[in-house]
Amino acid sequence: MQNYKVFTKEMKKDYTIIAPTMLPIHFGIIKEVLRQYGYKLDFYEGTTEQMLKEGLKSVHNDLCYPAIIVIGQLMAALKSGEFDPDKTALMITQTGGGCRASNYIHLLRKALKKSGYEQVPVISVNASGLERHPGFKLTPALLGKCLIAMWYGDLIMWVSNQCKPYELNKGDTQKVSDHWVSYLADISSTPKFLQIKRQYKAILRDFEAIPKHHVEKIKVGIVGEIYVKYSPLGNNHLEDFLIREGAEVVMAGVGDFMMYCLSNREIDARLYGRCGIGVLTCKLGYHYLHHAQRKMIKCIKRFSHFKAPTDFEKVKKLASDFMGLGVKMGEGWLLTAEMLELVESGVQNVICTQPFGCLPNHIVGKGMMRKIKEIYPESNIVAIDYDPSSAKVNQENRIKLMLANGMQNIHLKNA
Ligand code: SF4
Repeated sequence: MQNYKVFTKEMKKDYTIIAPTMLPIHFGIIKEVLRQYGYKLDFYEGTTEQMLKEGLKSVHNDLCYPAIIVIGQLMAALKSGEFDPDKTALMITQTGGGCRASNYIHLLRKALKKSGYEQVPVISVNASGLERHPGFKLTPALLGKCLIAMWYGDLIMWVSNQCKPYELNKGDTQKVSDHWVSYLADISSTPKFLQIKRQYKAILRDFEAIPKHHVEKIKVGIVGEIYVKYSPLGNNHLEDFLIREGAEVVMAGVGDFMMYCLSNREIDARLYGRCGIGVLTCKLGYHYLHHAQRKMIKCIKRFSHFKAPTDFEKVKKLASDFMGLGVKMGEGWLLTAEMLELVESGVQNVICTQPFGCLPNHIVGKGMMRKIKEIYPESNIVAIDYDPSSAKVNQENRIKLMLANGMQNIHLKNA
């Protein structure tokens, strides 16, 4: 017997589903993929301050920062008057892991009850069978399309970051990115790799064609908890700020996070002697994703001058030299691995985004910085805290100091 409001098949016909925002490019494509399957997905945009204000009214302020902002965004959407609460459902992910990301849904339902929106169903998107909603089914076909959308999103984000700081005409990169997001929304139902390869090639060609300045810019890597790392709402538009300050952003795609989650099942199986169909499925899923990543890397190297991402197996290996791969709360070993990968690949300046209340990522983020600096003294890593009371200007001043150190290191190297 469920103790939550279920999203039924009947609701699917005329309900709008609101989801939190995070990766603008990826979610733009996924929104249209879901529309093809009859789901009216929508997002509610607004300012960080607005979402925080609403979030703090709805959940306790000792919760981790992403929980406050995500719940705040969904509550603000309902209260905005733009959506009919009797014809609206909310959507949120449940990771099924040990940290709070599995429990946002319960906090959200509590907040809905408190504000008199008990009739609003909350759809859980999870791969662990935590909740079932007959009106929303993540079928293999839909999942496949979402995964392809994710790779397209990763590629566009990756090359767009290598174009934006150098574009001759401001806004050119955004135009190419927007064009591809709306074009790819119409992904064919059974995409073959040749088709995807053709699209990759066309994407790379369009981004290469953007007229650019040939100047050297300071490269800054962004790592951290997945929400504050990617969400402009969560990190106070960090990417835009870095570009304004004359930097090139380097940020691994969400495909790495998916591979991290899947390989953890295999690592757990090895550590604790588990086996079964779930482990086998994750193993196959991992190999499928890793194969897809290698294909994408090959395309970037073959058809463009852009720098390609690092093979995930290498990223994993970097972490295993530093810590046990059983460390998997939050971003676990992946966070440390991403810092190491950046430094090893020549991106010495790294911002580690740390949300308030996130113990797991403080351990594998801030907690590993000293060790990394001991081994790579040339690295210039700074942890930036994101919490409801931290002023944007303080965050930006710390980043400016890190950039100044980075510039000094470049001058010393070139002297
Ligand atoms: S990883 Fe950290 S910020 Fe994210 S849900 Fe878990 S505790 Fe919260």
